[in-house]
Amino acid sequence: MQETKSETNQVGRFGEYGGQYIPETLMSEIDRLTEAYDHYKDDPDFKAELKDLLINYANRPSLLYHAERMSADLGGAQIYFKREDLNHTGSHKINNVLGQVLLAKRMGKTRIIAETGAGQHGVATATVAALMGMECEIFMGKLDTERQALNVYRMELLGAKVHAISTGTGTLKDAVNAAMQEWTRRMDDTHYVIGSTMGPHPFPTMVRDFQSVISKEIKAQLLKETGKLPDAVVACVGGGSNAIGAFYHFINDPSVKLIGCEAAGKGIHTDKTAATLETGRIGIFHGMKSLFCQDDDGDIAPVYSISAGLDYPGIGPEHAALQASKRVQYVGITDDEAVDAFEYIAQTEGIVAAIESSHAVAYVRKLAPTMRKDQIIVCNLSGRGDKDVAAIARYRGVNIHD
Ligand SMILES: *Cc1c(COP(=O)(O)O)cnc(C)c1O
Repeated sequence: MQETKSETNQVGRFGEYGGQYIPETLMSEIDRLTEAYDHYKDDPDFKAELKDLLINYANRPSLLYHAERMSADLGGAQIYFKREDLNHTGSHKINNVLGQVLLAKRMGKTRIIAETGAGQHGVATATVAALMGMECEIFMGKLDTERQALNVYRMELLGAKVHAISTGTGTLKDAVNAAMQEWTRRMDDTHYVIGSTMGPHPFPTMVRDFQSVISKEIKAQLLKETGKLPDAVVACVGGGSNAIGAFYHFINDPSVKLIGCEAAGKGIHTDKTAATLETGRIGIFHGMKSLFCQDDDGDIAPVYSISAGLDYPGIGPEHAALQASKRVQYVGITDDEAVDAFEYIAQTEGIVAAIESSHAVAYVRKLAPTMRKDQIIVCNLSGRGDKDVAAIARYRGVNIHD
């Protein structure tokens, strides 16, 4: 989307971050969406229908699995994995998409659009649009359509139209721009399903609420199994949705350490990084005030990570605020560390986790040995790694067809 038009009010603020920086033309639609969300989030019929879909379609609650072999091998804290990788379509994205598409339907919309980077949010959106009989168009950077040809075909198979966006670097931020523009052109029948805790209010709050089912379940499952709260919760951070989902119900439990793992790429002191919280500066982009990777002129800088799901140049505003208040600690994990962790969890636990989630696993490998055996780490496995196998093979110098 174009840079700021106006800051109309203080809604949707997280400290100094968040807000609504959008063109005038979109304001009435954003107001309608805010009103609809405020109404339906407490509506018993809406909540019952969403709950039914989460259980019977998406496979919730996801398992909380005690990784005993990995815990023993690392010799410290007990490690539990929250298995969002076992959800339908293979990641946490479905939690948010089901919520937003259901809301769009209640608002009378018949057409869904979405951006996608690696393709997981696009696939989840195309899936739910098919389920609900809605028209679906996905905006994806041209470079990403080439890197993720299989996911493009998968979305088309599900009945979606995929637009390859060749402006800018042909990656995720350009896809977000294109989807925002399309929404501005056609708001009457169309809802834009943003895939992470980003964009103008109400998106960061709404997406967080839909993803907070993750921490709600973790708390109940762990209390039932151990009678305790975790000592630490660890999650990877792209735009921030799986992390805030895993943290949310622990934010007011001061004994629970919360750690977000962002993609450091080749290292935070190189220009090949996506570590927004560690290297970013305050700015306004994609409808929100937050931290962004910027060049010396204040333009959005190209970002890099081995993981297409983490290479977004911004961060959800709530994370920027949680960093400022020091409630959450954010650490950078390099490509090398993430790839090592990808192989390690496969070989110790028999789980092929997404390369995004492997950033969190990499930090758990550092953290667990520093803790006692009666302490507990919960690590959110945001998605499954089948999509990454060919790329990791290439990283290791093995060429296989994908
Ligand atoms: C999209 C994605 C992410 C990154 O997005 P967040 O909004 O930060 O959660 C992480 N892991 C997986 C598996 C994803 O698909």
